[in-house]
Amino acid sequence: MKAAMAYGPADIRWEEVDTPEPKAGEVRVRVSACGVCGSDIPRILNGTAHYYPIVLGHEFAGTVDAIGAEVEGFCPGNRVAVIPLIPCMECAACRKGQYSLCSKYSFVGSRRSGGYAEYAVLPAENLLRLQESTDLMNAALLEPATVALHGIRKSGFSRNHTACVVGGGTVGTFCTQWLRIEGASEITVIGRNQNRLDLNQRLGADAVFTSLAEDYIKKALAAAEISGSSKDGGYEYVFECGGTPETVRIALQMAAPQGTVCLLGTINNEITFTKAEWEQILRKELKLCGSWMSGGRPYPGEDWVRTVECYENGSLQVDPKMISLKLPLSEAERLPAILQDKEYRTGRIILDCRK
Ligand SMILES: [Zn+2]
Ligand SMILES: [Zn+2]
Repeated sequence: MKAAMAYGPADIRWEEVDTPEPKAGEVRVRVSACGVCGSDIPRILNGTAHYYPIVLGHEFAGTVDAIGAEVEGFCPGNRVAVIPLIPCMECAACRKGQYSLCSKYSFVGSRRSGGYAEYAVLPAENLLRLQESTDLMNAALLEPATVALHGIRKSGFSRNHTACVVGGGTVGTFCTQWLRIEGASEITVIGRNQNRLDLNQRLGADAVFTSLAEDYIKKALAAAEISGSSKDGGYEYVFECGGTPETVRIALQMAAPQGTVCLLGTINNEITFTKAEWEQILRKELKLCGSWMSGGRPYPGEDWVRTVECYENGSLQVDPKMISLKLPLSEAERLPAILQDKEYRTGRIILDCRK
């Protein structure tokens, strides 16, 4: 088969490799489309992958191609979404069903071969059947949708509360949609890119503010007060999806007294706070909540089951504007150059693995 193999910093090669054979309990998937996650960018550009050469890619969907021994419930041609987390099922966290906290997990596309290829072999438990009419190109974005839902569930969010999403990227845009589905009384989104903010507004945000404008903090806090539900100023739930020191600072400012700040964005740089910034956590008695990957019991868990259900019934959308570029897999060698252009990073780049 052909695969886009990462060899090190800014070195992806489109080459012929052995087509993997499914062993007992495994299934080979013909990959239809694979997303280029923000977490893949340093693996592509900066050489931070666990090993090289590696086939990256953990956000993908496709069709069942070949089935190993002892696998039930799949036929060739079945459409499937791929769950990239492979928990050990033995550690203390796994025994409690907290798979995202597994201490010995493997992960498709970072700790083992992933989806930037024509075929990928996965444990059968890591596949979720999709309907035969489900669009597989957009289904590559189901994984980040599960990450967003996990954060919302971890935060303890419930209906009729106000929420602010900081960072209008892929996970942020899914947070906005989940908050709408879950019945938030007010959804405000803060981000840099106006196109992304417009998209969030179309998908359910009541108000959007660009952090490039002056006074956006004041305006966003005022929007919370106008909505009437948070008299003390600020939002009851804040979802930090940017993963930068700036977005974390904004998130702390947006939270209402005794509000919850859920941290979803992966931080790629060192982060420091001033005394005043940090003291907000104490003075406002904020609850901080981290969120990591997705999961739930029984494996693969509520995050995945609900995401697929809402995607297939149309309540959760993969809007075309969420995709910044569809690139044929055969042109994946261009990825390092393309990723230099920050505009493409505001949405997902999807590799079309059929081309
Ligand atoms: Zn990802
Ligand atoms: Zn484990």
